[in-house]
Amino acid sequence: MYRSHTCGELREADVNKSVTLSGWVHKIRDKGFVAWVDLRDRYGITQLVFDEDRTSSKLLEQARTLGREFVVQVQGKVIERASKNPNIPTGNIEVLVEELTLLNSSKTPPFTIENETDGGEDLRMKYRYLDIRRNPVKDNLIFRSKVTMAVRKYLSEEGFIEVETPYLIKSTPEGARDFVVPSRMNEGQFYALPQSPQTFKQLLMVGGLDKYFQIVKCFRDEDLRADRQPEFTQIDCEMAFVEQEDILNAFEGLTKYLLKEINGVEIDKFPRMTFDEAMKRFGNDKPDIRFGMEFGELNEVAQHKDFNVFNSAELVVGIAVPSGNSYTRKEIDKLTDWVKRPQVGAKGMVYVRCNEDGTYRSSVDKFYDQNDLANWAKKTEAKQGDLICVLSGDANKTRTQLSALRMEMAERLGLRKPDEFAPLWVIDFPLLELDEETGNYHAMHHPFTSPKPGQLELLETNPGAVRANAYDLVLNGNEIGGGSIRIHDKEVQGIMFKHLGFTPEEAKAQFGFLMDAFQYGAPPHGGIAFGLDRLVAILGGQETIRDFIAFPKNNSGRDVMIDAPAPIDKEQLKELNLKLDIQS
Ligand code: ASP
Repeated sequence: MYRSHTCGELREADVNKSVTLSGWVHKIRDKGFVAWVDLRDRYGITQLVFDEDRTSSKLLEQARTLGREFVVQVQGKVIERASKNPNIPTGNIEVLVEELTLLNSSKTPPFTIENETDGGEDLRMKYRYLDIRRNPVKDNLIFRSKVTMAVRKYLSEEGFIEVETPYLIKSTPEGARDFVVPSRMNEGQFYALPQSPQTFKQLLMVGGLDKYFQIVKCFRDEDLRADRQPEFTQIDCEMAFVEQEDILNAFEGLTKYLLKEINGVEIDKFPRMTFDEAMKRFGNDKPDIRFGMEFGELNEVAQHKDFNVFNSAELVVGIAVPSGNSYTRKEIDKLTDWVKRPQVGAKGMVYVRCNEDGTYRSSVDKFYDQNDLANWAKKTEAKQGDLICVLSGDANKTRTQLSALRMEMAERLGLRKPDEFAPLWVIDFPLLELDEETGNYHAMHHPFTSPKPGQLELLETNPGAVRANAYDLVLNGNEIGGGSIRIHDKEVQGIMFKHLGFTPEEAKAQFGFLMDAFQYGAPPHGGIAFGLDRLVAILGGQETIRDFIAFPKNNSGRDVMIDAPAPIDKEQLKELNLKLDIQS
């Protein structure tokens, strides 16, 4: 038996017990006649004592040969500590060692196994198994497991059935590129890894399973944006005989349950907002509603003077930054530079100081009087002491830019509190999105999403105006889930494919199986998928998903520990009938 107790378990009540512990050598302190070793495992740290007088000098000598991260087993007696450590649960006791067995030695680890380590990101990723020994990483993985368990418990109690769908499939479009896998047995042919199990879960509804879920890996070959992983996990769900309202209720239930179980937070009804309203009020389809700074549209009160920048703009819009008037001129200039960075892309920023005495001073005083500025303050709900920041230009772009500024200011002002949770449903998304480069429409959610009832005809006349029966669940400014009511009619699905630029032949080749299935009594159905990695990070009060993934990829999509991706050998290429000398 390797152990009778874990390293986090022994207390004063165990004094005098004979115990066996196994674990890693965390720290050694040698005082000459006595040495202490901190023994660590997943559960905690227990102090071991090797004492010349109380045990033997041979044992002490043996202890001196140990190094950091050696794996040992000890047998000994629990005794009360002379100097207690109130900072750890086992701090009142120690184990007087009577027998020491070396289970394995260790090279000196490349970074310290401490909460605050000296190891940089790259090194920690290369030796991720050592990083996982550190509490912050280990605790995140345990936290993730707790969330997943709660998800499974809730959904299965609600009658959802967990079904595994295949990974070696054909393309399921979710707007990214596919990762492909060559087939050895079918020369020249490839599988695609699922961007999501979308079509399969719909087929499960045709199969009559009624309520499905799966905690599932999805694969998307995208240019990596910060904090995206090429493989990530979804809580994927689908239900038959449902309308939007049923789905929102079911998954509001799940989210409420998680917030209560995991965070002890009780939230009543989740607010709902249409996509259009979210864009207008926050410039963002996933607004963080934990704080104000809502957009004030200023066209009406700013386009009547000689300021051409505003007069020629489609939209003039501002936010009131609370207490922003304390910013110095230099700080405001810096903020202007910030919005002009290519990542944000504004051309400039107009500001209005709302002085404590009720007067205003702006960067456009030449054009606007106190009365005008007071109107701006009204529209942006600025108070005395605030700073109004105004951007202008093309409506969509300006909204996005001001949203970036709003989030940045909230971050700087500490308004994005990790332990405060504000969920929000965003509904009525546009069905289609115009690709500015190609001039083609593509599905904003995915091609299987149904238009809102009664809007099918609008597809012919004004495709951009059609709203989808689609919804997102937003938590603290992050999209944590998204889904839709699906098309379940072959004809309608055909019309949809046509508008997305598929010829009937292409549609048949790619999605014939789904259209066929729709001919055999497909029930009305809909669903949603949550991004598990992000959900876990947010519930854990953090935003970096990589910290909640055991073996994440880096920003170039590499696993630096196993060194993947990597070339494969000639033999393998030959078997797969692949030639790599691609000529362009
Ligand atoms: N398959 C969708 C996605 O991955 C989710 C859904 O529509 O249920 O975003």
